[in-house]
Amino acid sequence: MGNTDELRKQKYNASVTRLHHVHEDLMILRVTPDTPRPQPIPGQYTVLGLGFWEPRAPGCQEEEIKPGTEHNLARRSYSISCPILDDAGAGLMDMPAQKWLEFYVVLVRETGRAEAPILTPRLFMLKEGDRLYLGEKITGHYSLEGVKDDDSVLFLSTGTGEAPHNYMLWELLRRGHRGRIVSVCCVRYLRDLGYLKTHLAVAAMYPNVTYIPMATREGQGGKKYIQDLITSGEMERILGKPLDPGSCHVFLCGNPKMIGVQEKDRETGQLVWPRPPGVIEILMERGFRTDKHSAKERGNIHFEEYW
Ligand SMILES: Cc1cc2nc3c(=O)[nH]c(=O)nc-3n(C[C@H](O)[C@H](O)[C@H](O)COP(=O)(O)OP(=O)(O)OC[C@H]3O[C@@H](n4cnc5c(N)ncnc54)[C@H](O)[C@@H]3O)c2cc1C
Repeated sequence: MGNTDELRKQKYNASVTRLHHVHEDLMILRVTPDTPRPQPIPGQYTVLGLGFWEPRAPGCQEEEIKPGTEHNLARRSYSISCPILDDAGAGLMDMPAQKWLEFYVVLVRETGRAEAPILTPRLFMLKEGDRLYLGEKITGHYSLEGVKDDDSVLFLSTGTGEAPHNYMLWELLRRGHRGRIVSVCCVRYLRDLGYLKTHLAVAAMYPNVTYIPMATREGQGGKKYIQDLITSGEMERILGKPLDPGSCHVFLCGNPKMIGVQEKDRETGQLVWPRPPGVIEILMERGFRTDKHSAKERGNIHFEEYW
């Protein structure tokens, strides 16, 4: 048996059981662990890993592997996604009956830093049936905790940041949520919306659900971002009522610039808002509050930054 076969046998604990390339840089994959994981709380994440010995997709930033790490695993966190509907598209997927976990991953070709991306160039070489590492634990505070049946729920994401929202949306539909649900996903091109068909089908089935796809590099009238949707009043028009912190929960996931957490000013050490403003600042001016995990305080803005 070759050395890599032996390493795979030692380090991998799961298989790719379904793989759909939305396009060459975007995929939805299902991973089935050898031993079952507990049912995730919708919104949570786990880890995927592949050995540094595995091949990398061509056309990605060159990597220099540090000596002594050749036999290690490249690991990264991934939100657990959800197909929402069953394979026939007729009703909700029976998630508790499934052994696989679904992930929604974009290929990072360049990081913009000296260190090359370690995992996605390897994930994009996978085929159905291939083996990989899946984290033993499913974790994270990003969840629907505190959301009441009549609350309005806004899921705002960039790119693959809609992964946890898909699982949360499934959960809201499963438990018969009565309030309005608006999912927004902002991407560069419409082809980057891997779950578009599903969301349109869900919106057609559930009158309280709206899906707003946004493509910054398509369409006319200049680039429009999620922040603009809120400041222009368009979000309230879609919702059909004011954004009320007393009855609305906002979920933000993906690019930290869209989310807009306060940053420490290097010179003064004070916390300052990023420029241009992210969604958090815009909503806090309207009375919304973020979660404070250290103080176990639940707000009505919940967020998960991907980097
Ligand atoms: C809690 C959590 C959940 C995550 N869930 C997902 C997920 O469901 N799907 C997913 O694709 N990624 C997700 N990520 C990001 C993921 O962990 C990796 O960072 C990403 O896949 C790139 O890995 P890499 O080793 O190839 O590059 P890295 O060495 O990790 O390169 C990091 C750089 O890649 C860019 N980048 C990272 N993630 C993205 C992204 N999603 N979209 C665009 N640019 C990105 C940023 O510029 C970042 O600085 C999540 C991150 C966290 C912290």
